[in-house]
Amino acid sequence: MEIQQLLSKYMLEISKVDDENKLYYALVGILKRILDFQVLNVLKGNEVIYSEPTEVFIDNNHYIDYLQWIEERLQPTFLPFEDVYVGMIPIFKSSKLLSLVIILTTHEPTAETIDYLQLIAYLSGITLENLRLFRIVDDSRQYYETILNVSNDGIVVLYKEEIEFKNLKAEQILNEHPKLLSKIKENLESSTEFFEFEELQAFFSLSLKKIELFGEERTLVSIRNITTEKEIQKLREVDKIKTNFIANISHELRTPLAAIKAYVETMMGMPMSQEEIQEFLEIIFTQSQRLEQLLNDLLDFSQLESGTLKIKTEKTEICKVIERAKNAVQKFAEEHNVNILIECSNIMTICDPYKIEQVIVNLLSNAIKFSDRTKEHKYVKLSVVEENDKIRILVEDNGIGIPEDKIDKIFDKFYRVDNELTYAIPGTGLGLSIVKEIVELHGGEIKVESQVGVGSIFEVILPLSNNLS
Ligand code: ADP
Repeated sequence: MEIQQLLSKYMLEISKVDDENKLYYALVGILKRILDFQVLNVLKGNEVIYSEPTEVFIDNNHYIDYLQWIEERLQPTFLPFEDVYVGMIPIFKSSKLLSLVIILTTHEPTAETIDYLQLIAYLSGITLENLRLFRIVDDSRQYYETILNVSNDGIVVLYKEEIEFKNLKAEQILNEHPKLLSKIKENLESSTEFFEFEELQAFFSLSLKKIELFGEERTLVSIRNITTEKEIQKLREVDKIKTNFIANISHELRTPLAAIKAYVETMMGMPMSQEEIQEFLEIIFTQSQRLEQLLNDLLDFSQLESGTLKIKTEKTEICKVIERAKNAVQKFAEEHNVNILIECSNIMTICDPYKIEQVIVNLLSNAIKFSDRTKEHKYVKLSVVEENDKIRILVEDNGIGIPEDKIDKIFDKFYRVDNELTYAIPGTGLGLSIVKEIVELHGGEIKVESQVGVGSIFEVILPLSNNLS
């Protein structure tokens, strides 16, 4: 074969090698074709890393004295040694010696052959360097991939809204929660940087960060599973709620009980006129009603918890229900100096009149309880309107209002807004959760709008007639 052909073949061969040994194998192949040698060793540093024939090593006395000189010269060199020639072919890249091929041959090569050897050494050097660079890139890829894959956080890179990279954790999370990806895309559109996602009792916190890679914008998404943190937070909240509930309920029981006890003791301990007795009995009656109401709330709550809270619907004149509710809270309103205004046109509907009365009493009592002491004219306005096939009952007050960040929670069991305005106002935090349940049992809904210092509007929407009867 012509030397040019050999070189082309060699170039083709080494372009495909993927490890150093294969390169030396190819190198030995071409050297065999252009040189007649008996032994070949490849040295890297002081170590022989390849030999032909296998396990045959050239005595290092043949070349050891020339190593430094070759490293500086970087040219194939053949020196006579006794009856043979020792050939040293440095494989290098950019004046850096990568390895050294040592051969023992009986013929001194021509100047032309040495030129070819120089070219072969150069091509081999480039390939070796490429292999080395490839290994560095591959090692660092493996390094980062391992770190990313053992991470407990999901990491995703989005490019033009498509996933370009995801680590193992992200793959697992996205497989289990396929909706999460569309949520990420939605938040990407609205440029939200942080959001939380909840599904199937699992909570995730996500952060979206724009990054520039290869001159183009991408989004780095990190997904953290915060279910445990949320559970701990919930347990803490439940604990706090329990403590508050016990404190509230004790207070709710003690106040009327203390009043009843005090009035009865007074009645037993001193002679009284008939009017005084009547007045004391009325107070005792009101206080026992308060106790009864509390017990009813607890009973309703236990039914709500066990899913046994039921409604019994019948044809009902809603204004009558409202009138009864108003009468029930009238005295309470007077004590708090709150004016009750009612607007109701006669509407017939099908509902549980007692439960709806309970709803209205609760909303009115709250409006009175949470009235604003600093306002001269305190009111609660109740209006009922018929709209399409619905009844809207609006209970509007100019009381203390509800902070925006608490508004979502007020229908939760035991929840009470906890601040200096509400601190002294008695309650168990059960009323609105029972109200909501009753409204929903009717197929209706309850909404609230409120502003601190201005007042609140509770809106109960009930179907005008329903098939619950
Ligand atoms: P309670 O009245 O026993 O505290 P509720 O479940 O009826 O419990 O109400 C929950 C919380 O919602 C109240 O503690 C209060 O903080 C807030 N709230 C309810 N109604 C009003 C209102 N009309 N004005 C201001 N705050 C209210």
